[in-house]
Amino acid sequence: MKQFKIWPKFLKKFQNGYPLVFKEAIAGNPKRMDEGDIFHLVDEEFNYVATAYYGVQNKGIGWVLTQNDNDKINSDFFSKRVAKALNLRKSFFNSKDTNAFRIINGEGDDLPGMTVDYYAGYFLITWYNRGIYNFSEEIIEALKLNNPIGVYQKKRFGQGGSYINEEEHIFGDEADLPLIIQENGINYATYFNDGPMTGIFLDQKEIRNLVKEKYAKDKSVLNTFSYTGAFSVAAAIGGAKETTSIDLAKRSIPKTKEMFEINGIDLDNHRIIAEDIFNHFAFAKRRGFKYDLIILDPPSFAQSKKHKFSTAKDYPKLISQSIDILNPGGIILASTNNSTFDMNRFLEFIDEAAINSAKAYKILEQHTLPFGFNTDPNFPEGDYLKVAFVQIF
Ligand code: SAH
Repeated sequence: MKQFKIWPKFLKKFQNGYPLVFKEAIAGNPKRMDEGDIFHLVDEEFNYVATAYYGVQNKGIGWVLTQNDNDKINSDFFSKRVAKALNLRKSFFNSKDTNAFRIINGEGDDLPGMTVDYYAGYFLITWYNRGIYNFSEEIIEALKLNNPIGVYQKKRFGQGGSYINEEEHIFGDEADLPLIIQENGINYATYFNDGPMTGIFLDQKEIRNLVKEKYAKDKSVLNTFSYTGAFSVAAAIGGAKETTSIDLAKRSIPKTKEMFEINGIDLDNHRIIAEDIFNHFAFAKRRGFKYDLIILDPPSFAQSKKHKFSTAKDYPKLISQSIDILNPGGIILASTNNSTFDMNRFLEFIDEAAINSAKAYKILEQHTLPFGFNTDPNFPEGDYLKVAFVQIF
């Protein structure tokens, strides 16, 4: 068994269960390993600390699989972990109005480097490094025991987590696309053949439901960075007076139309626009357009012809620009998936924006990842989602 010493200053971190092995933490050259190699982390005296696999992913060179020296990393090991993750989510499978959800969430389910989502009977695996993909046979065998109609996979282990475009269907029946899934009684069109994304971000399940149940009724809603318009449809079904969906990508127009159509909503009160959102902020301000609810769920980084945007830097500006076109007493749904800052910092961004706009505000509620997207308490970086409903006076 290969072994690597942990530098003393990082020893406690790993003894306490930190799962991500990073290069600076270990002595010796990890280059002598191949993706999927199993190795031991040891202390200065060569005492066992943890068993990890080698797999290059963002800032890591591998992930801890266990802190128990007796564990053998074999198909039995993986099938127990898969079974445990699925068992935790038993209640999901009994739901009458939701048939899409996360069933394995990487390190949160002690299966770091991969996720599995359930889409109406189909399993979609996403592999985030080649090391864990080395164990794909064992993991897929374990998943098959749960009788998926079919299994799809996406490989995201290109440089910087980029997507590798390869055949994705690997087992069982192929789905008719779009595959229509239900979430809290709403239909959403999803695709397995369209790059890294599927048409819906399942981590926003509860937030979409809050929009529908609590925040949309009789409101005029602006959905920015709207992608396939999932939030707009939730707002429409929740009784919004009108919605405006804006995304830079032209493909978002047919995709959003499809989302409305499969829910039987006609488009009379729903506008779908392909435009740089920053142009719309300026245009709406000039024209005096106002909205009651503005949804902000941008990507961590975005670059259009005219604007470069990073949530870690520009979020306050995004909120200030929204405040300019919000009716008094209106609500901003502010969301980010950027893991480089935490909820406290995010709330500071909101505070900063309100001060700059000279407005009083109230955080009505705040949320992180929902049940199903289980996180590892020793790996706070994995708890990436931050959502706040902010009322502006
Ligand atoms: N909020 C969406 C997901 C957003 S994905 C949802 O809940 O489903 C990010 C989207 O931002 C992409 O569709 C991308 O095209 C869009 N985008 C990036 N830069 C943009 C800009 N400057 N203006 C409008 N949309 C932009």
